[in-house]
Amino acid sequence: MAKIIDGKAIREFNLDKIQEQVEQLKAQGILPTLAVIIVGSDPASRIYVNNKKAACERTGMKSLEFALDEETTTEELLELIDRLNADKSVNGILCQLPVPKHIDKNKVLERILPEKDVDCFHPENVGKLCIGNGGLVPCTPMGMVKMLEYEGVDPTGKHCVIIGRSDIVGKPMAMLMLARNATVTVCHSKTVNLAKITKQADILVAAVGIAKFVKADMVKDGAIVLDVGMDRDENGKLCGDVDYDAVKEKASMITPVPGGVGPMTIAMLMRNTLTAAKIQNDL
Ligand code: NAP
Repeated sequence: MAKIIDGKAIREFNLDKIQEQVEQLKAQGILPTLAVIIVGSDPASRIYVNNKKAACERTGMKSLEFALDEETTTEELLELIDRLNADKSVNGILCQLPVPKHIDKNKVLERILPEKDVDCFHPENVGKLCIGNGGLVPCTPMGMVKMLEYEGVDPTGKHCVIIGRSDIVGKPMAMLMLARNATVTVCHSKTVNLAKITKQADILVAAVGIAKFVKADMVKDGAIVLDVGMDRDENGKLCGDVDYDAVKEKASMITPVPGGVGPMTIAMLMRNTLTAAKIQNDL
């Protein structure tokens, strides 16, 4: 039976450390500030934005919200980003996704200055991540790295198999694990003999988006299983990409859903905002 990795406890541990550093910056007259842009009235986006503002409050940072109409044009959004880029009191900028379809998402994300890009979506930050000198790091994958650190797991020499090659989870997780000396395999929908590969994993990361996709017979005895999925089961209940009840009998450690990887993402957003404030103040 696996040890359950408690994402909420690890989030609080990380937020406490961030809060301490925010206090230190404040003592030097620096107030880390995050600007959050939300376009339209998607209820899920509203919840995410509220959670991000609450995390700023929790860590002593300042949050600014810019709620724009559904009809906002790409040009109007770019003008706001230009203003926030130029505002020295703003350290981090994020545009909550998804944006309405008529907005050119890539143009928007690339307009945010790399040093204020706390979601780490800008190509310059993606490039820095690949060559291993990124200050700002993608939040969800970094959350998993912090979970491993907290649990005393050193990825060195371990085989990390990642199911999923998205730009926000799978690919950056591969880079972060490579940088920590794991041997990395990235699988996707065209991978042949998936179970044969996943069964070799010492660390198995599921970022597929299909409820309970990873079955017990796809997992090696004693593997560490990190479940990124936020899916709905047949009863509409929140669940992950891993068949948790069965897999937890085989794994040595496992993240639950909810209460696993999810809570770490916003903590890492706070970490990036703090890092951005330090970089911008030459600290
Ligand atoms: P995504 O962009 O849809 O990518 C899914 C990946 O899974 C793709 O690379 C896809 O392969 C692969 N895949 C799909 N079916 C597969 C199959 N049958 N076998 C092997 N690989 C398969 O998803 P994402 O944005 O990475 O998100 C993944 C999950 O994590 C979702 O449930 C999402 O809600 C959740 N999520 C959670 C957080 C959090 O904070 N907890 C953050 C982000 C995402 P192809 O590339 O070949 O299509």
